[in-house]
Amino acid sequence: MPLNSASVALPDASTVSAASEALARLDTQAFLARLLAQQTPFGELAAVSSFGAESAVLLHLVATLNPMTRVVFLDTGFHFPETLAYRDELIVRLGLQGAQTIGIDPLSEKRYDEAGMLHQTDPDRCCAVRKVQVLKRALRPYGGWISGQKQFHSAGRARLERIEWDEGYNTWKFNPLADWSADRIASYQAEHQLPVHPLVSAGYPSIGCAPCTSQVAQGEEMRAGRWRGQEKVECGLHQNPDVIAVSVG
Ligand code: SF4
Repeated sequence: MPLNSASVALPDASTVSAASEALARLDTQAFLARLLAQQTPFGELAAVSSFGAESAVLLHLVATLNPMTRVVFLDTGFHFPETLAYRDELIVRLGLQGAQTIGIDPLSEKRYDEAGMLHQTDPDRCCAVRKVQVLKRALRPYGGWISGQKQFHSAGRARLERIEWDEGYNTWKFNPLADWSADRIASYQAEHQLPVHPLVSAGYPSIGCAPCTSQVAQGEEMRAGRWRGQEKVECGLHQNPDVIAVSVG
């Protein structure tokens, strides 16, 4: 069995293959229910949320199925105040008892970005120390992580699968909403009367750190406001070119 960075025993390929086949027949809720009830070989998983524009949907599903699920929010120190308020509101409204906010440790911040200007001089490095390294630390006790990514977000995410082996984190990654459309997300939010991030109506369909997020004009791709004017399109959390996709749908 392979081990992740915390020496959590991970299932081997044949075990995963059999589990993936069984999971492929399930709808989103049943798929997520199996994962959260630890009725798979992957063990305990953590959900990771940006508490951004569409986050309420995955968080509502998670809270309904198991409110004790660990839900990790990475606090980069540069979030919009609206995002922090929305996080607090959703945690209470949905009863997310396992929610955890985790940020860069003070020593790393002092070493790499004491002035807090790295996002201007080297945004890839900034994301690496304020997001990627922090998530690696947060995921150590878990057999994998659950993300709210969707295929329609961008061309780069169009081939997203529900189960992926993530080389970057050396662990399993689950995308229960991979094939959900924007309409389905909106319908679910409306049906369950979920609170909407306050910046959505101000022209932010995708919301990250304040210095790296701008408003999006009509007709632009929804992530066009992220790192606008730069070649950078992902923060690195989801940018692992060696990902081996396991098709389940
Ligand atoms: S999105 Fe911007 S501010 Fe946030 S971690 Fe990345 S570079 Fe830094």
